[in-house]
Amino acid sequence: MSTDLHGRTQRLELADQNLRSFDALVLASSPEGIVLSRSAFYPGGGGQPADHGVLIWQGVETRIAGARKGDELYLIPAEGDPVPPPGTTVRAAVADERRSALMRTHSALHVLCGVVFRDFGALVTGGNMEELTARMDFNLPEIPPGFKESVEAACNAEVTADRRIDVRVLPRAEAFAIPDIIRTATNLVPETVEEVRIIDIVGLDCQADGGTHVASTKQIGRIRVAKIESKGRGFRRLRIEVGS
Ligand SMILES: [Zn+2]
Repeated sequence: MSTDLHGRTQRLELADQNLRSFDALVLASSPEGIVLSRSAFYPGGGGQPADHGVLIWQGVETRIAGARKGDELYLIPAEGDPVPPPGTTVRAAVADERRSALMRTHSALHVLCGVVFRDFGALVTGGNMEELTARMDFNLPEIPPGFKESVEAACNAEVTADRRIDVRVLPRAEAFAIPDIIRTATNLVPETVEEVRIIDIVGLDCQADGGTHVASTKQIGRIRVAKIESKGRGFRRLRIEVGS
């Protein structure tokens, strides 16, 4: 699918979020970055940080410490590690513990986004995540009494309900016919994008999103609303932690 191509790299993680190892051909390489023919490393974006992992080639190990998206998708080797020359076939592995934690955390943020919009009508203005901890910013003029407890309870009710989290790729017009997508993404998706990847927490929240997610809300685990900060007029920052 053309939308899964970045530069010359086929992005495997968009179609298979559970893929953790794959083979690929090195197309270009330097200590600043390695370009592969195909990759399941999430390169970062939408608040979700890049994957870590390793490339194995000819008995040598190159640790991958991150990624950079430019004209090509560059995997960043750990400082001082040997870099495979172009033409080398590598076996690659994505660090599973980190990625799986980030998938749970990213899905937790979508649950939070869905709950806060449904119950309080507040829109998201920003967000960021690390493994099992995240923040999301909302435009919410007043903090109602019991807000923190109410949001946490509602999020965990959605986890318990074990809602399906579907990934779909839709033509632009069809995607923007979904009311939730209009709410969250109309201004974020460039005009030139013809297909839009949708993350649908069925019955709760539907967003245009390029990140990786778990398959159902129960896989997220418990969501704790750790803190609510007021950063200015109507600007509320919610910090969450994801547990088992
Ligand atoms: Zn997202």
